[in-house]
Amino acid sequence: MKAVVYKEPYTVAVEEVSDPRIEDPTDVVIKVTTSAICGSDLHMYEGRTGAESGIVFGHENMGVVVETGPGVASIQKGDRVVLPFNVACGFCRNCLAGNTGFCLTVNEGFAGGAYGYVSMGPYRGGQAEYLRVPFADFNCLKLPPGDEHEDDFALLADIFPTGYHAAELARVSPGETVCVYGAGPVGLMAAYSAVLRGASRVFVVDRQPDRLRLAGRIGATPIDYSEVDAVEQIKEQTGGEGTDKGIDAVGYQATVAEGEEQPAIVLNNLVESVRPTGMLGVVGLYVPEDPGGPSESAQKGELLFRIGRFFEKGLRMGTGQANVKAYNRQLRDMIVSGRANPSFVVSHRVPLDEAPDAYQRFDRREDGWTKVLLKPWE
Ligand code: NAD
Ligand code: ZN
Repeated sequence: MKAVVYKEPYTVAVEEVSDPRIEDPTDVVIKVTTSAICGSDLHMYEGRTGAESGIVFGHENMGVVVETGPGVASIQKGDRVVLPFNVACGFCRNCLAGNTGFCLTVNEGFAGGAYGYVSMGPYRGGQAEYLRVPFADFNCLKLPPGDEHEDDFALLADIFPTGYHAAELARVSPGETVCVYGAGPVGLMAAYSAVLRGASRVFVVDRQPDRLRLAGRIGATPIDYSEVDAVEQIKEQTGGEGTDKGIDAVGYQATVAEGEEQPAIVLNNLVESVRPTGMLGVVGLYVPEDPGGPSESAQKGELLFRIGRFFEKGLRMGTGQANVKAYNRQLRDMIVSGRANPSFVVSHRVPLDEAPDAYQRFDRREDGWTKVLLKPWE
């Protein structure tokens, strides 16, 4: 079958690889109808993770089941399903507690598994014609048959639940004010989730005009940090106090300010933007090692976090991979009932063969390239 294969930094190719097959009785194989490119793929694409040449990318997958293992009970051939980017067993301590992003079974010695992701287990990605799904009863979320809402449902694999998780980590509640740093697909989904949860005002900080425009479209207040001081703006518009809650949807890849060695870590801006005793939800990725980091300490994953200010303000913070399974059923039902339409972030739908070009453009954050869906069979 055809698949998107990582070759070397800034290069992926569409190549023939072996077809996936049932390896464990609890597996299914799906025919992939949509697999999205994620900001997280770009960490590997840019050579920042030491990903090995030959990896098949793709952790945001949906499709139709074509084969089921003999131990699969609830999923049948022909079912249309979307898969959390987390590969999880469903029976370990963390999965039982709902923390499926930290499954203790699937990835020896390292909590949490994912498809097509370096250091997150042996699972091949789904930017391909077919995909093997382990622990299928637990990991498949069934969808209404047909092709309705395909783009909305595809976002249930990662960014919609991840944005929602950010809002949950910050306990965003009705009537609250929220600032979101990063208007990438994840930041936009976090802002959208804050709106769905009843926030009275949401600020979104970025410097990409097209992305800020989308933030404006969902009723958030866009702030361009290349033009104004974001912290000052947020304070000014919240009576000097700062917002109740804050979300980091940028992570360690924050732009480095000119003349500075360290990335201006967004967390420090958040600490300044949120009122004392507020809460922070951090879903932007921070990594133990960043071989391409701008300084020696950044390469060791050590970034300067002003913990004194964090402590002084009595802030609380939640971090980590999203537990997609904790939210995807509810978010699916909001899509079905018309309450949520997350696909406003989708900018491009392209066949698999065009993945190399799409990666390049998305990585350069070219104007209008917000979220790319790969369609292996179109
Ligand atoms: P993205 O790279 O498309 O978006 C990041 C955005 O941040 C860009 O629009 C960029 O212009 C903006 N940005 C850069 N520096 C900034 C700064 N100093 N202040 C404000 N904005 C700044 O990526 P994405 O797909 O939206 O993902 C965002 C992050 O979330 C990535 O780190 C990704 O790995 C992570 N992620 C985490 C999870 C999880 O489960 N926790 C899941 C998916 C993605
Ligand atoms: Zn993703």
